[in-house]
Amino acid sequence: MNPPDNNQDNAPSTPHSQLPTPPPQSNSNPNPDPTSISISNPSFEQMVSFSAPKKRRRGRSQRSTSSFHTLPNPGGILSNIDAAPRSTNPGIGDEIITINKDATTEALLALTAGFPADSLTEEEIDFGVVPVVGGIEQVNYILIRNHIISKWRENISSWIAKESFLDSIPKHCISLLDSAYDYLVLHGYINFGISQAVKDKVPPTQQQQSKPSVVIVGAGLSGLAAARQLLRFGFKVTVLEGRKRPGGRVYTKRMEGNRVEAAADLGGSVLTGTLGNPLGIIARQLGCSLYKVRDKCPLYRVDGKPVDPDLDMKVEGAFNRLLDKASKLRQLMGDVSMDVSLGAALETFRQVYGDATEEMSLFNWHLANLEYANAGLVSKLSLAFWDQDDPYDMGGDHCFLPGGNGRLVHALSENVPILYEKTVQTIRYGADGVKVTAGHQVYEGDMVLCTVPLGVLKNGSIKFVPELPQRKLDCIKRLGFGLLNKVAMLFPFVFWGTDLDTFGHLTEDPANRGEFFLFYSYAQVAGGPLLIALVAGEAAHKFETMPPTDAVTRVLQILRGMYEPQGINVPDPIQTVCTRWGGDPFSFGSYSNVAVGASGDDYDILAESVGDGRLFFAGEATTRRYPATMHGAFVTGLREAANMAQSAKSRGIRKRIDRNPSKNPHACATLLADLFRDPDLEFGSFSIIFSRRNPDPKSPAILRVTLSEPCKRNDDPVADQYSNKILFQQLQSHFNQQQQIQVYTLLTRQQALDLREVRGGDEKRLYYLCETLGVKLVGRKGLGIGADSVIASIKAERTGRKPALSSSGTKSGMLKVKSGALKRKLIRRIKGPVPLNQNNNGDSETVKHESLGNGKASVQATIADTIRSSSTQEENKWLGTGVASSSGIHSS
Ligand SMILES: Cc1cc2nc3c(=O)[nH]c(=O)nc-3n(C[C@H](O)[C@H](O)[C@H](O)COP(=O)(O)OP(=O)(O)OC[C@H]3O[C@@H](n4cnc5c(N)ncnc54)[C@H](O)[C@@H]3O)c2cc1C
Repeated sequence: MNPPDNNQDNAPSTPHSQLPTPPPQSNSNPNPDPTSISISNPSFEQMVSFSAPKKRRRGRSQRSTSSFHTLPNPGGILSNIDAAPRSTNPGIGDEIITINKDATTEALLALTAGFPADSLTEEEIDFGVVPVVGGIEQVNYILIRNHIISKWRENISSWIAKESFLDSIPKHCISLLDSAYDYLVLHGYINFGISQAVKDKVPPTQQQQSKPSVVIVGAGLSGLAAARQLLRFGFKVTVLEGRKRPGGRVYTKRMEGNRVEAAADLGGSVLTGTLGNPLGIIARQLGCSLYKVRDKCPLYRVDGKPVDPDLDMKVEGAFNRLLDKASKLRQLMGDVSMDVSLGAALETFRQVYGDATEEMSLFNWHLANLEYANAGLVSKLSLAFWDQDDPYDMGGDHCFLPGGNGRLVHALSENVPILYEKTVQTIRYGADGVKVTAGHQVYEGDMVLCTVPLGVLKNGSIKFVPELPQRKLDCIKRLGFGLLNKVAMLFPFVFWGTDLDTFGHLTEDPANRGEFFLFYSYAQVAGGPLLIALVAGEAAHKFETMPPTDAVTRVLQILRGMYEPQGINVPDPIQTVCTRWGGDPFSFGSYSNVAVGASGDDYDILAESVGDGRLFFAGEATTRRYPATMHGAFVTGLREAANMAQSAKSRGIRKRIDRNPSKNPHACATLLADLFRDPDLEFGSFSIIFSRRNPDPKSPAILRVTLSEPCKRNDDPVADQYSNKILFQQLQSHFNQQQQIQVYTLLTRQQALDLREVRGGDEKRLYYLCETLGVKLVGRKGLGIGADSVIASIKAERTGRKPALSSSGTKSGMLKVKSGALKRKLIRRIKGPVPLNQNNNGDSETVKHESLGNGKASVQATIADTIRSSSTQEENKWLGTGVASSSGIHSS
């Protein structure tokens, strides 16, 4: 593998040659008009110019990385369409329709909204948007869905009506239009926000009387997003907020004095990516232009002298290569990497390959930057999953909202019934509804949405009655919740220059590497000369107890050390504010991260509703795709509003859901997901559950196919023989390596066992399943009532059973009974690292690793062994060269 070419930094690699190559981004003056960048619908080129990995991007933007997140197959939908019969006569039901000639651009726009360009999301499958997963109907649905999104994005201040599509959608596809439109509106992909058109759709209060009532705990972005949607659905909503203000971790403080003033974002500040960012859409609805944070970020040494740019670039390159090596290492380590920290891996690499001692402070600066991005110490971040959300990076520029994000909060909280200074102590939930206690008052409702930060949940500030399920308690414990603090300083004038938005400062002491390591200039956007210094990592924790005057003295010392040698006078600030997010009883920290032992699954578990659709959860720590962000929080609010509406609907249709779980999609979803956490058979992408007590070969089984890894491209001539051709094409062009689709079918136990014996990997099995057995793979809902009794009996059987029995082996396809090991295997498969071994079936096998001791030394020794034994000579040479060359520069 070649080291990355720094000259190609901003040029993403595109997997499909038919895509135009995006123009390289220039570092010089990205905001010709510094007050605005275009945040209307992105151009094709903008959309394909995705994206450096997010976790490395926050803070100083990344100038080099070899592991660009390439644009998922945007040509897929075209290749599907090309391969399938095209309708010239809209009356023919089994052909692909033409709505808009530019299906690719529409697919890309859908991609920025979080949809696979050419396949369904799991949520869509759950929602039952098409009767059968795969086939022409699905392709047509996707075209319609993408078209609706694109049309609304053309005018995001409007309320786009279903009727407006009647002319463009062929009559025989009206039911698909219905399902696509209803899905998008309910889930807040279109027609959301704060435009007048949306506000006009909120039914008057008197019409809410018969609707369900909802209590929302927390008026942060997630709570506000949910509240607005639910109000529009006609629900009765009460928001209980512990603080005196809305916004939670988004807080814009007005600073002023001596005739200068500025708006300082003390919490969430940077919109990390604008492509499809729903907060970018809210900003547009507000008529605001976003300001692109410029890439230029000079670093200053401990002695105040500027770091040589060449050296800076070399060390940054070496640092990125170390991260890339760490990614490779985790694949080689398999499950063991879950027990190892990113910090341990980086440290060991440094020791094995020799360290760049002379550039250590620069190296440490990058560690601080990483700790900022993750609000967590690298020594606590999971090597396996710390960057699991990178594939979902929004893409596009990192931006500030001029005037601060408080503008978003202000607009979102308008007309939302929020009761302030109501600190919730207890949430009771049960079959009859919910009771939420704040002080001496009890608020009753049909459902409750809890949006408090993970830090508050970890702290146990809220008592849940009954107690939350153990799996949720476990994930609250496992996930990390770290710290970032800020010092905001209003100066009488801008002394640091207006040609940059960020600059950094190095420290000698590695334990202090995060102390004021990065400065953000808000002079262009805050309305006055505002500078904010960041405190990350260990330093952020120490900072919590540092007297503010000491902190300010220290920052000024650093600033003077940098600027006075340049002959620039650094005045005393007019006003300063130091944050203490760690001690804040309404957050107990800044944002979540994937700590050692945790995984992306934990975000999903935290998001699960409990109590049969009574208690729901939203907030940044409930999204595995966009955790730790403002837009992530917002999206979870929209998501839960949809879930609550669905839940209320199914409760309304049928009260006694326990008798018939399929009538309640949430109960059914949770039940089935639970059962598949401990499948009876598992091979390749196939999992099967059946009765463990009934050995009858004809007894029923449920099969789940999880499509999470890139399938081979369809150049196999055998594939053309498949009559499920479209399904195969859909699956094979499934663009997003991290995206998962799960489809199900009912079959007999014997058929399941036979399937396991099919040789040739998943494709052959899929062929066997669909062609030989003739089964149809469907979404969860498509399983229908027939599956309910099977689910219920397996559930009943397992409820009375001890979870862990002895396991005879881990060979692929063997009966599996050890749930702990299984969870790990599941996680590893979801993540989709390189299989360790191939067996004769072409399947990946789990390779058992001796568990590591907890001691740091043994972990490091194992990592080192893995590196030594696994790295090729070429890799060693390559990595060594990167570090050595940076040392060389320094000594010259
Ligand atoms: C210093 C800092 C910098 C950040 N920088 C960025 C950034 O640049 N870009 C970015 O995208 N994101 C950033 N974030 C993260 C982003 O701000 C959060 O992810 C997002 O705002 C979280 O929204 P939320 O609705 O999930 O939670 P919150 O905003 O925390 O909302 C939860 C609400 O619940 C309330 N609450 C808590 N306990 C109780 C209780 N017992 N009773 C009643 N109410 C209660 C809280 O007061 C709060 O209002 C930053 C965060 C911090 C702290």
